[in-house]
Amino acid sequence: MRRRKTVFVDSDILVIGGGMGGCGATYESRYWGRDLKIVCVEKANIERSGAVAQGLYAINCYMGMQWNENQPEDHVRYARNDLMGLVREDLGYDIARHVDSTVHKFEEWGLPIMRDPKTGRYQREGKWQIMIHGESYKPIVAEAARKAATEVYNRIMVTHLLMDKTRPNRVAGAVGFNVRNGNFYVFRAKAVIVAAGGASHIFKPRAVGEGMGRTWYAPWSSASAYALPILAGAKMTQMENRIVLTRFKDGYGPVGAYFLHLKTYTENAYGENYEPTWYEHTRQLVGDYVDRHPVPTCLRNHALLEEVKAGRGPIRMVTKEAFQDPHKETVGWENFLGMTIGQAVVWASQNIDPKEINPELTTSEPYVMGSHATCSGAWASGPEDCAPAEYRWGYNRMMTVEGLFGAGDTIGGTAHKFSSGSFTEGRIAAKAAVKYVNDLGNDQPQVSEAEYEDLKKTVYKPLENYAVGRNEIVAGTVSPSYLLPIHGLQRLEKIMDEYVGGIGAHYTTNEPLLTRGIELLGMLKEDLAYLGAEDLHQLQRAWELQHRVLASESVTQHTLFRTETRWPGYYYRADHPKLDDKDWHCFTLSRYDRDSGKWEMEKAPVYHIID
Ligand SMILES: Cc1cc2nc3c(=O)[nH]c(=O)nc-3n(C[C@H](O)[C@H](O)[C@H](O)COP(=O)(O)OP(=O)(O)OC[C@H]3O[C@@H](n4cnc5c(N)ncnc54)[C@H](O)[C@@H]3O)c2cc1C
Repeated sequence: MRRRKTVFVDSDILVIGGGMGGCGATYESRYWGRDLKIVCVEKANIERSGAVAQGLYAINCYMGMQWNENQPEDHVRYARNDLMGLVREDLGYDIARHVDSTVHKFEEWGLPIMRDPKTGRYQREGKWQIMIHGESYKPIVAEAARKAATEVYNRIMVTHLLMDKTRPNRVAGAVGFNVRNGNFYVFRAKAVIVAAGGASHIFKPRAVGEGMGRTWYAPWSSASAYALPILAGAKMTQMENRIVLTRFKDGYGPVGAYFLHLKTYTENAYGENYEPTWYEHTRQLVGDYVDRHPVPTCLRNHALLEEVKAGRGPIRMVTKEAFQDPHKETVGWENFLGMTIGQAVVWASQNIDPKEINPELTTSEPYVMGSHATCSGAWASGPEDCAPAEYRWGYNRMMTVEGLFGAGDTIGGTAHKFSSGSFTEGRIAAKAAVKYVNDLGNDQPQVSEAEYEDLKKTVYKPLENYAVGRNEIVAGTVSPSYLLPIHGLQRLEKIMDEYVGGIGAHYTTNEPLLTRGIELLGMLKEDLAYLGAEDLHQLQRAWELQHRVLASESVTQHTLFRTETRWPGYYYRADHPKLDDKDWHCFTLSRYDRDSGKWEMEKAPVYHIID
């Protein structure tokens, strides 16, 4: 095999992933650590990477404390309500109290935020959202991170974390490879902040074949945020809490501005308001959570899903009325042009003019993420001043592995942080990481040469498998001795879809299905040793698949552990169809042992620190 060059990079703080959380972490690390070496490593290019790559039309988390619009406590109540009672209130409060200052920085750096001409305040789309001209949101944020970093390494996919050779539960860096020139990178760091986004493509998407990239969630978000800490032995929380989105059909265009700003509404195929039809039924499942205001996102999905199951689909968004107003029509289109151009193209290609036709809605396949309306991710230590003792074992946002921090989609228990909250959480994690590094003194983590040399062999193995096995191809791309990443991905998506509650199973699962799903995932994991990659691009796909499979296993284990249906509309445990506050008003925690391949599950209490 070709010898690959090894490049060593030393840093005080290593930020993995240069999306919203990573840019926030990089920026703030410099503020608190003027003389520190701060390195950000990104598998794409931070100018246009992560879920905000295409731009956004709204910042979804802004309190507006300067105008007394909302207080941080209000946001905690809102997120708690939306997540059916289960959020880390300490972490959510911590973000909410700092998020406004983040948004003010964005504006200072050049992000155009719309203003209400009458009041001069930021233009609200809803109670928490403000409207922006956000096509260049990501490059603006990236510029701040670039200027703050000692170095940004683009085009390097991180595959594994490195552990300290003197203390097994302490992080010492990470390894990865350059997706363009194939060099192997060993990052030695005193503290590591993981901000590598969430996970799409673990469940079979609605659009397959040539359209498989057309998902709501960015197809390049490949679960590294979970797999990296899981492999290092970090505890994860709420991994069962996958998200399903109601969006415009086929293009997954957002509906927030339509509901909130344009005041459009939904109806069934016969022009009826179907939500009240399902009120009593939903109440029997979840009790008075259905009476909360606003109605939790999952329960609104639930009504839609039940109506479709009852044969009265498709569900449509009534746009015809609102679009008679030229201003609203403009806003409706611009909303897509700023962040989901594909939806406008889909409508054009399907002869849908929303002024004439009410467009169809659909529900997406499930995704895993920690920053939107769900809160999967790593179990993190909370802020000193407001975290209950049980949630505090170290520095703020440090995971259960020493020196390993996280932000954004990576950190669990804190839904509704969105782009601004993720950046804010990056800042919070960075401040704590700088303190951790300063407190280390001479007790610095040591990287083991044997560990990174072993990992080097592991990382490039798919290239070797391909080189050795390619002459055995029996037909097309099928080989008896290796599995291509795309084949592995499709196998994963099928397992998750059929056994863990994807679209094909109408989001429904049960214990026998989950148990079988775990067995099948185990077999898939065995076969991953035979992944074949024909080039560096496919090598990246191979490692993305590895990360997706591990995260999927975690999702399946958590779903099996929680024997209730807490979030109907996201998924259903058919054998435990009701919400069960007596036994399950708690967080689920898991820890993976990479030597035995076993998962340990436990419960953790939910503390309500806000009334
Ligand atoms: C479709 C969609 C619409 C949204 N709309 C809005 C909205 O309107 N308003 C709003 O405020 N928020 C919105 N959000 C939420 C917002 O985008 C996220 O909350 C935010 O981007 C999360 O930040 P993050 O840093 O965790 O992840 P990201 O911003 O996705 O960044 C993750 C980064 O890690 C990199 N990475 C991943 N794996 C690796 C690896 N192995 N090695 C190196 N780098 C890696 C990725 O390339 C990426 O740059 C939306 C999200 C989605 C998915």
